[in-house]
Amino acid sequence: MRVLVVEDEKRLAAGLRKGLEAEGFAVDIANDGTDGLWMATENPYDVIVLDIMLPGMNGFKVCEALRDADNWTPILMLTAKDGELDEAEALDTGADDYLTKPFSYVVLVAHIRALLRRGAKARPAVLSAGDLRMDPAARKAWRGDAEVELTSRELALLEFLLRRRGEVVSKREILDHVWDYDFEGDPNIIEVYVRHLRNKLDRPFDRASIETIRGSGYRMAANGG
Ligand code: CA
Repeated sequence: MRVLVVEDEKRLAAGLRKGLEAEGFAVDIANDGTDGLWMATENPYDVIVLDIMLPGMNGFKVCEALRDADNWTPILMLTAKDGELDEAEALDTGADDYLTKPFSYVVLVAHIRALLRRGAKARPAVLSAGDLRMDPAARKAWRGDAEVELTSRELALLEFLLRRRGEVVSKREILDHVWDYDFEGDPNIIEVYVRHLRNKLDRPFDRASIETIRGSGYRMAANGG
C-alpha cells in the first residue's frame, strides 16, 4: 500500500516515513502543498496524509483541488492542536478523516488502516430538480449550464431541499439538518438563507423553485421551478 505524506515539518515527515515504512507501507513525501498536489495527481496512492498548514498551497486547497479533479483517494488530514483550523472544515473540503497533532504512530496507523478498509468512496451523485443541479462533494451548483456561487451554508440548505424535493419540509427539520441539533438561534435565519437561494438560483433565471408553505415550511419544486 502506497502512502503520500504531505508535511512541511521535515522532522515529522521523516519520522512518519520511518514509522509507516516499518508498518510495511511504501511512503512518498511532499514538503509543500504544490508538490503534494502534483504527486497525488501523478501517482496512484492508496491513502494521502495531508497537513493543513503548508507552504505554497494549504491542505484544504490541495484536498479541494483533488476532489474537483475527481480524485477520490482517501485523505487523512492533520490538524493543529490549537484548533485554529477546524476539523469540520477538513471534512467539509472532502477529507475522509482527520487527526489532531500531536498523535502517536499507533493511532495514525489505525486511522490509515481504517481508511484503506473503506477504500476510495465513489463520487457522490449529483442532485437535481429539473435543470437545478448540485454536486455535494464538489460543492458546486448550477442552474442550467450556469454555475452559481453559493456559500457553504447555502449549499447545505440547497442539498437538503434537493434531497427532499417535492416534499414539504418544516423549519425544524431544516434547522436540525442544516444547522446543528442544538441550534438555539432565531429560526428566522432560514428565511434569510431561502431568500439568498432564491436571489441566486431563481430570480436571475426567472424561476421559482422554493415554495413557501404557510405555517408548514418549504418545498423544493420537483421540476426545479
Ligand atoms: Ca505544517
